[in-house]
Amino acid sequence: MNFKTSEQLYKKGLKHLVGAVNSPVRAFASVGGNPLFIKKAKGTRITDVDNNDYVDYVLSYGPMILGHRHKKVQNAIDKALKNGYTFGASTKNEIKLAKIVCNAFPGMDKVRFVNSGTEAVLSGIRLARAFTGKDKIIKFAGCYHGHQDALLVAAGSGLATLSMPGSKGVPEGAVKNTLIATYNDIESVKAHFKKHNDIAGVIIEPVGGNMGVVIPQNNFLKELKELTKSHHALLIADEVMTGFRSKFGGAQEIFDVEADITCLGKVVGGGFPVGAYGARNEIMEMVAPLGGMYQAGTLSGNPIAMAAGIATLKELERQNPYQYFEEIGSILEVILTEKAKEYGVDISVNRFGSMLNPFFKKGAVTDFEEAQQSDTKKFAVFFWEMIKNGVFLPPSQFEAWFLSSAISERDLDITARAIDRGMKAVSEMK
Ligand SMILES: *Cc1c(COP(=O)(O)O)cnc(C)c1O
Repeated sequence: MNFKTSEQLYKKGLKHLVGAVNSPVRAFASVGGNPLFIKKAKGTRITDVDNNDYVDYVLSYGPMILGHRHKKVQNAIDKALKNGYTFGASTKNEIKLAKIVCNAFPGMDKVRFVNSGTEAVLSGIRLARAFTGKDKIIKFAGCYHGHQDALLVAAGSGLATLSMPGSKGVPEGAVKNTLIATYNDIESVKAHFKKHNDIAGVIIEPVGGNMGVVIPQNNFLKELKELTKSHHALLIADEVMTGFRSKFGGAQEIFDVEADITCLGKVVGGGFPVGAYGARNEIMEMVAPLGGMYQAGTLSGNPIAMAAGIATLKELERQNPYQYFEEIGSILEVILTEKAKEYGVDISVNRFGSMLNPFFKKGAVTDFEEAQQSDTKKFAVFFWEMIKNGVFLPPSQFEAWFLSSAISERDLDITARAIDRGMKAVSEMK
């Protein structure tokens, strides 16, 4: 396996692109070496510019839940392209996708489409403030909610991978209304509510996916809902990663908790730049043109993206792959655990449906602090061994691996063999 063309492109890319990437998570900062450049993908497989073929567990960080270039999605895109790309006026498909989304999430009567998860969340936060007339927001350490100023503190994977405590360029004023709590620790949330009477809302990834996978314990989400309700604050579910992935109705469906505001992204656009935020009528009526909260977008509700989203969600609903994800995920967990044991490597696997990852450490991971105790050097060795054996993983200990419904036994065989090689290499580290 050689990476010559990727290496050449990387060097070229450095001249006019920052680090030769357009999102820092794509840089191989913590695993070393050069980022791979991708030529194409189909189904579960992704091919780099040197024609190396991999089983893809990145899946563009989540959107490609049906695998790459699913026939029905491709057809929908081809058809939509023939009518034009963007109009600056409404189209029928926006209504269609809105209906699918609102039906999936009982807490959403209305939805607004935007162009990214970041936009969805920053709008959702603005909405919580507009509706409650209060300013403060509680977020959890290790949760990532996009790169808006106010939430770029203790923000998980991207920063953790680069060992950055927070971002430069974020003025103190922008984060002075942001309070940090500990995931799975309801007391840490209560303490904030005791101290502050101007909390507009609590934002959470209902399953943590940006510090590696971290699962809400016991009744954590239900308690959060109660707590916010009793303080006249809103629960904001950032389901950009988990929406349509954990279950068609997101993590909220699984944990039977209804958020006041739900933010979506990734899967909802079927691989195109789409985000969405929604809530019950009384909240959404705050948004312009109905209400006084302004939020807009030139390309919002883009017709090609809407077509991809509709085709993806319809096919996803038809396939209903959630039981299959559970089965495949548990097979992968067993392979990881047994191979680690065989080679005497300490790992702890967290898994939730189609999201999973091994932490290279002993003992459970239930919050960001425990995730950060992982041995990232071991991950780096494991990562490269996986690449060399035909498996494409996110290049960070703190990112989830994603499954698509296209994954096959053959993919699992390749993965199992790579994991064997990977754990062996880790066990042989000096
Ligand atoms: C990916 C992600 C975001 C940001 O979405 P972008 O489309 O990258 O802006 C926000 N929240 C969560 C939970 C995410 O996983």
